[in-house]
Amino acid sequence: MSSRGPKTSAKARIDELRRLLSDHDYRYYVLTEPIITDEAYDRLMKELIELEHEHPELWISDSPTQRVGGMPTKEFPSVKHRVPMLSLANTYNEDEVLEFDKRVRTLLKGASCAYVCELKIDGVAVSLIYRDGIFVRGATRGDGFQGDDITANLKTIRSIPLKLRTAHPPEECEVRGEVYMKLSDFEALNQERDRSGERLFVNPRNSTAGTLKLQDSKEVARRPLQFSAYFYRQEGAHDGSHFDNLKLLRRSGFPVNEQVALCRSVGEVIAFWKKWEEQRDKIDFDIDGIVVKVDSIRQQEALGAIAKSPRWAIAFKFAARKQVTILRNIVLQVGRVGTITPVAELEPVFVGGTTVARATLHNVDYIESLDIRVGDTVEVEKGGDVIPKVTRVLLEKRPRGLKPFRMPMQCPACGSKIYRPEEEANFYCENIECPAQIKARIEHFAHRGAMDIEGLGEAVVDQLVDLGFLRTYADLYDLHERKEDLTKLDGWGKKSVENLIEAISESRKRPYHRVLFALGIRHVGAGVAQLLCAHIPSIEQLIAKTEDELETIPGIGRRIAESLVRYFGDAHNRNLVRRLEEAGIQFRTVQTQPQSDSVFAGKTVVLTGTLSAMTREEAKEKIESLGGKVVGSVSKNTDFVITGESPGSKQQRARALGIRIVEEEEFLNMIGQ
Ligand code: NAD
Repeated sequence: MSSRGPKTSAKARIDELRRLLSDHDYRYYVLTEPIITDEAYDRLMKELIELEHEHPELWISDSPTQRVGGMPTKEFPSVKHRVPMLSLANTYNEDEVLEFDKRVRTLLKGASCAYVCELKIDGVAVSLIYRDGIFVRGATRGDGFQGDDITANLKTIRSIPLKLRTAHPPEECEVRGEVYMKLSDFEALNQERDRSGERLFVNPRNSTAGTLKLQDSKEVARRPLQFSAYFYRQEGAHDGSHFDNLKLLRRSGFPVNEQVALCRSVGEVIAFWKKWEEQRDKIDFDIDGIVVKVDSIRQQEALGAIAKSPRWAIAFKFAARKQVTILRNIVLQVGRVGTITPVAELEPVFVGGTTVARATLHNVDYIESLDIRVGDTVEVEKGGDVIPKVTRVLLEKRPRGLKPFRMPMQCPACGSKIYRPEEEANFYCENIECPAQIKARIEHFAHRGAMDIEGLGEAVVDQLVDLGFLRTYADLYDLHERKEDLTKLDGWGKKSVENLIEAISESRKRPYHRVLFALGIRHVGAGVAQLLCAHIPSIEQLIAKTEDELETIPGIGRRIAESLVRYFGDAHNRNLVRRLEEAGIQFRTVQTQPQSDSVFAGKTVVLTGTLSAMTREEAKEKIESLGGKVVGSVSKNTDFVITGESPGSKQQRARALGIRIVEEEEFLNMIGQ
């Protein structure tokens, strides 16, 4: 190895980093279209700072480490800042905050020191100058020394006072703060742009920066910009505290974010950061961390600044929730009820605290609208919801020859043809025997509101499907033939097998509408099933109906009709229904002859409290089958109030009206149980 090796390679890396960082600065501040995440940018910057520190001989004055981010544009007059608008040193970890605290305390020679913690709103920093209380000039930060004069644009922001509200304003003062956009406003703005065919903004910060650069302040006035003040400076004032300045700003008429903490120790600072790391999704604007500032202005001045950031403040950022990575493949995933979701397989990246290798792509419309192609560089985001999603394609990084995505038309789990109902975004696999769906379908079938098979919960279904006892729910009614095999299974004894077989057999008594619900036909919930049964008393008649005929039933729309016809159009499904029928399941509405000799015939009944022997729904069915009517509230027309455990106010009302109250035991007698 040559003796010039390490030095040359350090120089080469420094040059490369300077080139890269200048390029990213340009994209971020001028084009407002960054192509790497802030965390990735900060890592490159950190590397350059360290290398320059190790090699002071390679220092140059125009290195990105010496410059505050942006640059003034040519579109607005330039203005010089009286006091430079610096950047902030930043960190993502607690240890570096502890070091910051140690450094501050050492430099202050052990004097007591307090910190003010504020939310770091992700927007655009501006400086506002007030003369004799009147807003005279507003500017962007630019390169920290010179920025753009955007006074006219800033005057359109309602929350920036044009005149200070204080009685005796100083001759001149400067207020700094963040211009930003609320998430809800940002989304509405993007929707509007989408409708009018304009390019969408990437995030609220970009749309804020883009808006402030508009030449037409009438257009700016139409955009929903917010302001939050975080700094006050008055010529010649060296005393006081930052915390008090924030109060003064509020009194002067500025919005100041309420989430501010005056901390006596670095432990409190870290607690504030943790709290907001957890709660950042609960607020309607983006924050990318907190800002920690030494409270005393004298102490701030004593600490001073190095290069491009003050020594008395630090940005304590949250772990990035967005990262850029390569999309390796798009695969289809079948959900428990047949929904097909396209999933991105990614080059693994670290996002929001975990390594992410898969992310959702929602549906084929989403892929088409973002033009996502296998091989693209994409942005992956992990928001409040834990499932990561692909949110953007970096088109400028797209290699040549990538082909648009084409949706495969087969279910990846069973190979059957998938379909997409009219006006729906998702594709579905309707095959009830699809291995990806069997378990969920059987669980639904056995569920309490459906066939109510006691003892057939998730774990049992898992076991019976995995061991090949069940392939569809119709197999349940053949299980009694395999009692012997079942008894030999792990965790099963003679008694538990008996109980299960008994519960399955018992389910034959469930009325037709519950059976129809149990089949698990898309869009046919318990209510729709009841409605259908009330109008079409048997399954043969239901199977014979066309979409148009079904739609004549009030409450049955196109989607339900289409789903029913599709379901019964499949020979597999009809076969399944036939097997269930042969097993003795009820497929027609039993016309209950109201028994005129029953105590409930023609009576109005109210149920309250919890019954121990049956659900409220079952009690209702029973009373109705005996000719009674069950209603929700007690009135003077009520005949009986049936009370279970912890009855509510209905019982009191019944008592007040002198209505007959029937306790559970008596009720069971009355219905002959
Ligand atoms: P910064 O964003 O880390 O911190 C300073 C800024 O914080 C201020 O200018 C102000 O706008 C803002 N801020 C919000 N709340 C504040 C408060 N309460 N008090 C004080 N300031 C508050 O630094 P920066 O110089 O604006 O930007 C540099 C950062 O921008 C980098 O660290 C990087 O994360 C990002 N960046 C990213 C790219 C990219 O390509 N992704 C390129 C350049 C810069």
